[in-house]
Amino acid sequence: MLGLMQNQPLLISSLIDFADRFHSDTEIVSRRVEGDIHRYTFKECVPRARQVANALDKANLGVGSRVGTLAWNGYRHLELYFGVSGSGRVLHTINPRLIPEQVAWIINHAGDEVLCFDMTFLPIIKAIASHCPGVKLWVAMCDADALPNDTGINQLVSYEAWIGSERSEYPWPMLDEQAAACLCYTSGTTGNPKGVLYSHRSTLLHAYGACLPDSLNMSARDTVLPVVPMFHVNAWGIPYISALTGCKLVFPGAALDGKSVYDLIEAEKVTLAAGVPTVWQMLLGHMEQNNLRFSELKRTVIGGSACPPAMIRAFKETYGVTVLHAWGMTEMSPLGTVCTLKKRHESLSADEQLAINCKQGRPVFGVDMKIVDEEGNTLPHDGKAQGELLVKGPWIVQTYFRGEGGDPLVDGWFPTGDVATIDPEGYLQITDRSKDVIKSGGEWISSIEVENIAMAHAAVAMAACIAMPHPKWDERPLLVVVKKPGAEVTRDALLAFFEGKISKWQVPDDVVFVDAIPLGATGKMQKMKLREELSDYKLPTA
Ligand code: ADP
Repeated sequence: MLGLMQNQPLLISSLIDFADRFHSDTEIVSRRVEGDIHRYTFKECVPRARQVANALDKANLGVGSRVGTLAWNGYRHLELYFGVSGSGRVLHTINPRLIPEQVAWIINHAGDEVLCFDMTFLPIIKAIASHCPGVKLWVAMCDADALPNDTGINQLVSYEAWIGSERSEYPWPMLDEQAAACLCYTSGTTGNPKGVLYSHRSTLLHAYGACLPDSLNMSARDTVLPVVPMFHVNAWGIPYISALTGCKLVFPGAALDGKSVYDLIEAEKVTLAAGVPTVWQMLLGHMEQNNLRFSELKRTVIGGSACPPAMIRAFKETYGVTVLHAWGMTEMSPLGTVCTLKKRHESLSADEQLAINCKQGRPVFGVDMKIVDEEGNTLPHDGKAQGELLVKGPWIVQTYFRGEGGDPLVDGWFPTGDVATIDPEGYLQITDRSKDVIKSGGEWISSIEVENIAMAHAAVAMAACIAMPHPKWDERPLLVVVKKPGAEVTRDALLAFFEGKISKWQVPDDVVFVDAIPLGATGKMQKMKLREELSDYKLPTA
C-alpha cells in the first residue's frame, strides 16, 4: 500500500521560490572583485536568477546543458547557482586555482556551452578560449562598461548586458528530482580530475541534513560567511542552506587574507564562518599580531583537511569561538560528519572536551559509514581499530561523470581513501589519507597526529609529516616545518617537544625547515609534491 501524501519532487527551483516568498528580506552581502561592498536581499536576487534562466533560453541551451563558472563567492555567482540549475541546466563550478590547461580540459570534458567568469580570471580565459570550441558564449561577470573591447575572445558579453534586457519572470520547469543540477570535479591529485554530478534531490537532501543543529546549525538568526569557495563543492552547500533557512550570507570575493576576512566578519556581524584550516591560519595570525577579538562570531566550521587541536584551542580559549570540525569530500556533496558534543560531555573537563572536538564527529543522518581492514572485513567501532573508511547515502557519488574511472563502489559502498577509527558513540577520527599513512616496520604512523603535535609548538606556522624510505623500517616519518615569522626553534628542540606525547617510534627521524609547503587548488598541503621536492633528501638514520 502506498502512502497518500503529495508527490512533489525536491528541486532547486523550490528553494528559490521559498527564499523569494519567505526570506525575501534576507541580506546577501558581497565584497566584489571591483573592490566595493555590494548589498541586496533575496527580493532582488531571485528576479535576477530568473533573468539568467531567460538568457539561457535565448542562448538555446537545452535541459541538461552545462554552464561553467570560474568565479569567487559573490552575488552574481549566487544568481547563476539558482538560475542555471533552477531552469534545468547544470551548473559546473570550476576551480580557478588549477593550471589553465587543466581548466580547459575540464571545460571540454564537461561539455560547457556557456562559461561565466569573474574579471580576475580574464587572463585564464584569454589563454584557453581558443582551446574550448564547445563554448558558444563567454560571459564576463561585470558591468557592460567594464568589459574591455580588445580581449580577442569571440562571443564575449558582460553579465549585466547579458541578463539586463531579460524578463524577470520565469516559469521554473517541473523536472525529475533525479535530474542533474550541478557538476564539480575532484582536484585530481592523481590522474585527471573526475566529475561528480549532483542531482536536485541529492542537493536538497544534503541542504536539509547540513543545516541540522548537530550539523552546521544554520538558521534565520545567523549571518554566515562561507570562505569555502563556491567553485569547489558548492561552498559546502551554504548557498542552498541560505535559501532554505533564511540565514544572511556574506561573500568575501577574492580577498581571503587575514585582515580582509577579519574586517568583513566584524563589519557584517558574522556569527558563523566556514573554511579550510589554512584560511583560519591567516586570520588567527592577523588577530594575534594586532591583538584583536571577535564581537559576534560564535562558531566556525573547519574542514577540508584536519584541523590542528592547537587551532581549536586558540579559537575556544582566546577568541570564545566554538570550532565545528567537519569531514567530507567532493564525492559526498561534501558533508559526512560534524563534531558537536553530546549533553553528557558538558560535565567533562575542558581538555576532555577538546579531545572530542578534535575528532571529525558523528555522521549526519543520510550518511552511513564503516571501516574495513585490507581484506575488506568490517572493523569494530571501538575507537581503536583503524581501517579504510567507506560511506554510502543519497548524497554520495554512484559513478563519475562520463563513467570516468569505472565503477568506484565496492558492494554499494564508496571507498573514501581515508583511514579512520570510529568510537562506540559514532565519533569518526581520520588518522590519514591511505596514500599519506607512514608504514614503519609493519606499524602505521598517523601523519595527521604528528602534524597536530608539531602545530602546537609556538614557533610552528605549518607542518607536514611525510614518509621517507628507510632500509630497515620501510618508511620513517620526516617532519617538514614552516616557522612563524620571526620565530626560532631548532631541530632538536622540536623533536624533544614530541616526548611523552606519542610513542618514541612514532617521533619523526628528522626535521627539515622550509620557506613554504606547496598547497593544492583547494588549500590543502600537497604531500606528493613535497615528497618530489625532497627526493634528494636522506634521513640521518637511513
Ligand atoms: P579532493 O578534491 O582533493 O578530493 P576534497 O575536497 O574532496 O578534495 O577532499 C576530501 C578529502 O579531504 C577527504 O577524503 C579527507 O582526506 C580530507 N578531509 C576533509 N575534511 C577533513 C578533516 N576534517 N580532517 C581530515 N581530513 C579531511
